[in-house]
Amino acid sequence: MEVFREIPALRHKLKEIRKKDAAIGFVPTMGALHKGHLSLISQSVEENDFTICSIFVNPVQFNNIEDLKHYPRPHSLDIEMLGNYGCDLVFYPDENVMYPAEPQIVFNFGELENTMEGKYRPGHFSGVGLVVAKLFNITMPDAAYFGKKDLQQFAVIQSLVKELNFDIHLRCCDTIREHDGLAMSSRNVRLSDADRQAAPKLYEVLCLGKEMLQKGVAPSLAQMKMTEFLKKNGNFVLEYIEIVDSENLKTVTDCKNHSTISICVAAWLGNVRLIDNITVF
Ligand code: AMP
Repeated sequence: MEVFREIPALRHKLKEIRKKDAAIGFVPTMGALHKGHLSLISQSVEENDFTICSIFVNPVQFNNIEDLKHYPRPHSLDIEMLGNYGCDLVFYPDENVMYPAEPQIVFNFGELENTMEGKYRPGHFSGVGLVVAKLFNITMPDAAYFGKKDLQQFAVIQSLVKELNFDIHLRCCDTIREHDGLAMSSRNVRLSDADRQAAPKLYEVLCLGKEMLQKGVAPSLAQMKMTEFLKKNGNFVLEYIEIVDSENLKTVTDCKNHSTISICVAAWLGNVRLIDNITVF
């Protein structure tokens, strides 16, 4: 497995790979890899001839400077894991390579900016759109792999690919969880022992909501009960718990009018912000 830090050398290498007609799969990450990231790598390895992983903690998608400062960066361990999982190439640029000058382009993803992550993290999706567009242009993959854990991010990237005519097949992969249900996240290592104990309640509340909706409980009542549950279990500071159409992420008021529904949650435990979601139908 080769590691590239500069764009021209990477482009040269990928040109050679493309000459062999190899299908290229791409997994963009911010590093601090866990089994969730590695499941995307495995999926790409299975479906392509050549797999690229990028590791870049993208400053322009952080709206919280402390979060950026404390983002874990266990680089050698990441590289070792990628090698073990069959990744062929790692793109690990530093900030000057990705942003030699202050970026001027701003993305606006319309209604997706007004809800959930878009609402609570202003500018976040513009930063995500910018880095993903840059990485797509640099790597020009056939397919790109993302996690369902970041459901709204996937919707944003779908819209980016559609509007900018990227010829890239997008794949959305299932959320990988710890044994107790907590969705794997690079931020979990920053939880205190007590908060780590309480954290699985976030998945428990999603399962509870799913059960209620499947039994026919009205979304507004289910939302209220879920909020109450989180208040009683652990020191969660809830940002949102939303019942949405999985495709356009619009709020669901009546389950009958939607073919696919998800429940999405974001909450703080101490100074760690956690998000998760579950598919109901
Ligand atoms: P990140 O490094 O947090 O930017 O994540 C890189 C990719 O891994 C994104 O597409 C995430 O949605 C995905 N991902 C993060 N956590 C998980 C998880 N627990 N299961 C599956 N995919 C995940």
